Amino acid sequence: MAKIYIVDVTNRDGVQTSRICLSKLQKTMINLYLDEMGIFQSEFGFPTTNHELNYLNANLELAEKKVIKNLRLSGWLRAITGDVAVALKNVPTLKYVNLSISTSDQMIKHKFQGKLNYKEIIKSAQDAIVLAKKSGIKAVGVNAEDASRSKIEYLVDFIKATKDAGADRFRYCDTLGFDTPFSIYDRLVKILKKVKMPVEIHCHNDLGLVVASSIAGARAAIDCGVDAYINTCLNGVGERAGNADLVSVILAIKYGSGMEKYKLDEKINLKTAWKLSKYASYAFGIPIPINQPGVGANAFAHESGIHADGALKDRRNYELYDYEELGRGEPEVIDTGRKITVGEYSGIKGFGNVYDQMEIKFKDDNEARKILELVRYANVHNQKPLVQEELKFVAQYPDIAKKIFTMQPVV
Ligand SMILES: [Zn+2]
Repeated sequence: MAKIYIVDVTNRDGVQTSRICLSKLQKTMINLYLDEMGIFQSEFGFPTTNHELNYLNANLELAEKKVIKNLRLSGWLRAITGDVAVALKNVPTLKYVNLSISTSDQMIKHKFQGKLNYKEIIKSAQDAIVLAKKSGIKAVGVNAEDASRSKIEYLVDFIKATKDAGADRFRYCDTLGFDTPFSIYDRLVKILKKVKMPVEIHCHNDLGLVVASSIAGARAAIDCGVDAYINTCLNGVGERAGNADLVSVILAIKYGSGMEKYKLDEKINLKTAWKLSKYASYAFGIPIPINQPGVGANAFAHESGIHADGALKDRRNYELYDYEELGRGEPEVIDTGRKITVGEYSGIKGFGNVYDQMEIKFKDDNEARKILELVRYANVHNQKPLVQEELKFVAQYPDIAKKIFTMQPVV
């Protein structure tokens, strides 16, 4: 039976969004959390962008060392041979990629402006796929950018041709958030009846329909007998009005009415949801809305007489799912007395105190000084106090951490 998998694109679509920035260490932490949550794949960055390279290579090293256990790390490229060649030179152990090219008349006419026609777009994608596969890439997804505004007949030709060239999945990009749940379902069924191929559903929220359209797209895929891979972002960030929120998508598949026969990748464990959403909010510097599904402050709050009484009698009266499942429920301890933090100007004593409290011991003074030096750099790199998990990561994998926040402009 076909299943629904999650491909999180926070480290690609999320960070390319206006006003959203993540440091390379923060991107790494997100990959580690996504892995802990059992997510199938993280689109972890841009292998043709120079400032990404140390981070990308270091994260692949984490995967090789099984620090990142199951999460696939995939790079985003344009569907041109030049990008594939540069990516493999820059990131030689890369094994998964998505290759992107526009397929709508709007973009062909007004973005390519005569540089590429239907045939040339297909040829460019095919050449890029062949080169990627020949160079050892294990799985290639091909993105039809602006698929929701593309002609169905052309999409079918495009998908058939890319499948013939060796692509493993195609990404149906609702780039402008134009689809409704009804249109994406109908369009995908029409496409998949003509060409069977696993499909990634990539939707945007310009009409406020992003989670609904993503779920409807996944249903179309499963109804046609192929796997669906929903693209998500943490806390629903992403270009303009955002991508599908990771936690909302999972909740909708697990608890939505009529979703029983649509099976979610069983590796996914929502226990990490709460701490991951909070971490992302801290890293983005953007608060979680109080009414955010599952992780908002009000998601399990009741005040009105009838609701509070009902929820206390039986939580199912007013709650569809349990807060414990999302990793909520632990009291948060906020230290209101003396607090020693570690920053870019910290000294060895304060630093020792912070690690002591986390029960992390160092072999000797030398090791402690080395980690302190790295932690200072990590602070300069993040420009905000490091959270415990980051401090732990630097102490556990100092050499990899050093690579992640080492940046030397190539110009
Ligand atoms: Zn997008």
